[in-house]
Amino acid sequence: MKRVDAVILGAGASGLWCARTAAARGLSVCVVDHARTPGKKVRIAGGGKCNFTNLHVTHADYVGRNPHFCKSALARFSPWHMVEFLATHGIDWEERDHGQLFCLRGDGILADALEEDCRTRGAELLLRHAITSVTCADGLYTITTDQGLIQAPSLVVALGGPAWPQAGATDLGHRIAKQFGHAVIAPYPALVPLAMAQTWPLQGLSGIAVPATITCNDRRFTENLLFTHTGISGPVVLHASCHWQKGAAIHINFLPSMQLEEALHDAGGKPLVRTVLGKLLPDRLATALVSGPLADKQVAQLSRQDTEHLCHRVHDFTITPTRTEGMRRAEVTGGGVDTAHVSSKTMESTRQAGLYLVGEVLDVTGQLGGFNLHWAWASGQAAGMALPSSNPA
Ligand SMILES: Cc1cc2nc3c(=O)[nH]c(=O)nc-3n(C[C@H](O)[C@H](O)[C@H](O)COP(=O)(O)OP(=O)(O)OC[C@H]3O[C@@H](n4cnc5c(N)ncnc54)[C@H](O)[C@@H]3O)c2cc1C
Repeated sequence: MKRVDAVILGAGASGLWCARTAAARGLSVCVVDHARTPGKKVRIAGGGKCNFTNLHVTHADYVGRNPHFCKSALARFSPWHMVEFLATHGIDWEERDHGQLFCLRGDGILADALEEDCRTRGAELLLRHAITSVTCADGLYTITTDQGLIQAPSLVVALGGPAWPQAGATDLGHRIAKQFGHAVIAPYPALVPLAMAQTWPLQGLSGIAVPATITCNDRRFTENLLFTHTGISGPVVLHASCHWQKGAAIHINFLPSMQLEEALHDAGGKPLVRTVLGKLLPDRLATALVSGPLADKQVAQLSRQDTEHLCHRVHDFTITPTRTEGMRRAEVTGGGVDTAHVSSKTMESTRQAGLYLVGEVLDVTGQLGGFNLHWAWASGQAAGMALPSSNPA
């Protein structure tokens, strides 16, 4: 039997950050995880280079039932905290578009630094431990694992959500929260590719990438779109996926930075429509969007109706995805533990004293761009600073 000030379940982004923060305050902390390696998602994030924060982060970058919940933690944890952490560990980074900060090296350097930092500060990492039950009696939590019991007056649930199960993700965090009386808002795959019917008009374009604007549920995003074997992916689709609901149509503008009508006008009367389109879009996409007699007309032969039809096809291509690609392809879990009964300052449950919930397990879902990891650090920090010590200085 081990006894510590705080047990943290989950050695992912939020759990490790919470552990280092609490350990630095002198708390005895142990982190329990079933994985062999801590911070698996931090290692695969951003294609390996980990988009660890975003310079422009605000509460508006998150969705969840209570859009204000994340304000307090974000106000106390800025992107520069992470930049400072990377500097301390000699990790080089770069700023990419839209304020996204990435590591320069793609070899898990940030996760390694977090692990080392936790150990240096005295936090114990119990990896390859299967968690079999969590109970609470007389203000003391007992965690039963396949390798023994751990007890603590404080329990931090940093178990993430079920998205990307290939990295060891499960819904255990949601189940523990429910056990202690918390409501869980139905989890859904977010930041996920969208699948189309097999017969959709743009099938067979797999591998083609173009800049595009997608409008979905009154939200509009412009970034790259990638055609896949089953539908569409790429940053613009991952963004839109957070706002898509089954049955809803999405509108795609394949020429977001120009007006087709002007391009046709500037081309003069002689060229064929398909020649003009072929200069503006990848050939195969242009052909899939506009084919048949219309594509073979000269620009001068276009009627008003023809031009409107062309513009509609290119600037407002409307399609209803059949489904998302599901949790296996989702970068994050939308939904999660309802924040209504969690303190936004400390991340402590207002239903169950001594229970803290941090990171993706909560109903706080960031947009693409480093916001999910930023939330993991910020919420981990909030709990790490609030956890009570049994040995006050
Ligand atoms: C492919 C991919 C790329 C991503 N890229 C980015 C990016 O570049 N930028 C960004 O901001 N976000 C990115 N994300 C999202 C980001 O990684 C997560 O939002 C973040 O890691 C959540 O942190 P967390 O601590 O809440 O959960 P996690 O980091 O998922 O940690 C949860 C921990 O709990 C453990 N665990 C789960 N179930 C159990 C169980 N039953 N028993 C024991 N242990 C368990 C897991 O092993 C894991 O270590 C990406 C996600 C994926 C999948």
